[in-house]
Amino acid sequence: MDTLEQFDAEFFRRWLGAAAAAVHREADRLTELDSAIGDADHGANLKRGFAAVTEVLDKEPPATPGAVLVLAGRQLISTVGGASGPLYGTLLRRTGKALGEAGTVTRQDLAAALATGVAAVGQLGGAQVGDKTMLDALVPAAEALGTSFAAARDAAEAGALATVPLRARKGRASYLGERSVGHQDPGATSSALLIAALAEVAAA
Ligand code: ADP
Ligand code: MG
Repeated sequence: MDTLEQFDAEFFRRWLGAAAAAVHREADRLTELDSAIGDADHGANLKRGFAAVTEVLDKEPPATPGAVLVLAGRQLISTVGGASGPLYGTLLRRTGKALGEAGTVTRQDLAAALATGVAAVGQLGGAQVGDKTMLDALVPAAEALGTSFAAARDAAEAGALATVPLRARKGRASYLGERSVGHQDPGATSSALLIAALAEVAAA
């Protein structure tokens, strides 16, 4: 079990590197999803944001897991124009702050901190589970991370898929009303990619 395993700043840099690679690889799909119920920029937004994140983390690698996430979050906020920039930026920044200054953290520490970060996203955007947003993937993922990295990945993927029949109540997609039904939410899809990247580096 990884219950007592300690994860350091390097692990968190590897996570964000894997997330950037996944976003790069899937950018066209994310943009396609956003063209159905948004403005077709989600892939480009996140590609630009995560490329900037890996660049700053390579240039000035922080010493603690918390500092890695805070720096990454700040970078997303300053480089991504769409709604997802401030939301993902807040997620990483607040998760990082909740991790504090420890040099290493356990999966349980991360699960608790991620729950704090996810709650901050809910506060910032005013959305709840079921509103067809990134929270539909992030909320179950943070909870399942208490069990395992793989459970978090599976919960995020299931949450993203579960957005298909939902009607959007927040963000740009909500302007479409009933016409948002039948499409997978782009932000929930990118959230599932970020959590899958975490599970991938944890298993490596
Ligand atoms: P924009 O909508 O400004 O073009 P993006 O296309 O980058 O920004 O991101 C869209 C995604 O952001 C949506 O699919 C949704 O998951 C997420 N989102 C939008 N508004 C909110 C909100 N209020 N709360 C949580 N997530 C949101
Ligand atoms: Mg968009």
